[in-house]
Amino acid sequence: MAHSRDLSRPRQAGSPVAARDTVLGHQGLRLEEDLLFELDSPGLSGVDLPNVPAVEARLGGLERRSEIGLPGLSEPEIVRHYTRLSQKNYAIDMGTYPLGSCTMKHNPRLNEKVVRLPGFAGLHPLQPVETAQGALELIDATAQWLKTLTGMPAIAMSPAAGAHGELCGMMAIRAALDARDGGETPRRRVLVPESAHGTNPATAAACGFTVDPIPANDDGRVDVAAFAAKLGDDVAAVMLTNPNTCGLFEPDMIEIARLIHQADGYFYCDGANFNAIVGRVRPGDLGIDCMHINLHKTFSTPHGGGGPGAGPVVLSEALAPFAPRPWIVHDGDGFALVENDADTGDATPIGRLKGFHGQMGMFVRAFAYMLSHGKDGLSQVSGDAVLNANYVMARLQDVMTPSFEGPCMHECLFDDRFLDGSGVTTLDFSKAMIDEGYHPMTMYFPLVVHGAMLIEPTETESKRGLDDFIAVMRRLAESARAGEQARFTGAPEFTPRRRLDETMAARKPVLRWFPAAETAEAAE
Ligand SMILES: *Cc1c(COP(=O)(O)O)cnc(C)c1O
Repeated sequence: MAHSRDLSRPRQAGSPVAARDTVLGHQGLRLEEDLLFELDSPGLSGVDLPNVPAVEARLGGLERRSEIGLPGLSEPEIVRHYTRLSQKNYAIDMGTYPLGSCTMKHNPRLNEKVVRLPGFAGLHPLQPVETAQGALELIDATAQWLKTLTGMPAIAMSPAAGAHGELCGMMAIRAALDARDGGETPRRRVLVPESAHGTNPATAAACGFTVDPIPANDDGRVDVAAFAAKLGDDVAAVMLTNPNTCGLFEPDMIEIARLIHQADGYFYCDGANFNAIVGRVRPGDLGIDCMHINLHKTFSTPHGGGGPGAGPVVLSEALAPFAPRPWIVHDGDGFALVENDADTGDATPIGRLKGFHGQMGMFVRAFAYMLSHGKDGLSQVSGDAVLNANYVMARLQDVMTPSFEGPCMHECLFDDRFLDGSGVTTLDFSKAMIDEGYHPMTMYFPLVVHGAMLIEPTETESKRGLDDFIAVMRRLAESARAGEQARFTGAPEFTPRRRLDETMAARKPVLRWFPAAETAEAAE
């Protein structure tokens, strides 16, 4: 092989290597991985391509004159490379994934089987609708289920994620206000609780609103008096999550809805935490005007690593006319898509938010999930999710510090008071969890408590799985309090990389690879 490793080269200059140095940098059976371009053996190929026959040049002199620069690798080399890469990604299929506010639940394999049925897997978004009737019927049936579960009259299926759904909902609110106020609405203020997910204020700002924070009361809920005091004729909407991102149910939803409507504003509900109430509470009964649903959280479709997702938005009668195109209609002759302004009748859609009709694969998975659970199964999902989170909180509350008194919903929030005086931070604690084989919980969010640790086990963790997790958390908490600081500040010890310079990685990401010679040149 032309390729040879430079064994004198320190692996990853600047980042301490775990445990002992080994010849090639491997640790046990965890292998170091070079880039494909570093593995290059020029001339080697996993495929045999026929020689190109002589043809007359037709590109008018634009033909490539230099080598294309693809790395040469054999088939086993390439298979191993991608298999090893796939194993570097921690996944819900590998272990507990307690990330709060993310609902990392098991994805039933049945969903995957259904989505791979040739009729779904082979669909093309541009094929004639007469040939895609089943797909349209599935989108429509999924829409009906979501409307029923939320108690809302209308839905937009196309948004591709939670944040995209927020954009859809806030654009609809903006359009409704503009229409009502006969042009550009003077209502510019959106009220958002301090504990809100970061996407809420970001979305409001992206739609041209200013964000006015609503303070929380001592129980971690919206302070209704403070909320009422902020209302005025420049308020466009309130954006609220229920359960909120402290994992607590907002008990004053109906009063908040009454107050915002009295002030002629709209009620946006962030439904990303729907898993905690699905099958038990219909947000429509609480008086909301719109809510996005993360299919990739509540309805189990795989997520993480940046996608894919799906964020359908349910809408009240007042906002329904502004729903984005396309939507599905049906009559005795079957299903059709309303795609063009000319066909939208009295509706005044905000436009189109996404190419084609939404994330079809996510719809199929979510629908398979709903059908396989049924109505009773879905309410058991929320019951078990809440039970699991309360079990974790109850078993940890004597060694860690829950931020709020009383039971939680689907996730439990701790802060770092139990670490006071130990020299251990929330970050150190999280890194020590990695050494113990656990993906850390969500940390430093929500911002309303100090050194937040937000744990969401979901309903799919078994009691055995929860007990193991609890045992580890208890041991770590006791260890921190016993002054065993080094175990934390030195963690993680057992990973191929230890603490990375996350600021550098965010500010100066290295997104391109250059051959060694060019790198040297660039450094000069
Ligand atoms: C996950 C989440 C979002 C954003 O959803 P994405 O699909 O990641 O865009 C918004 N709000 C809350 C409360 C969430 O948990």
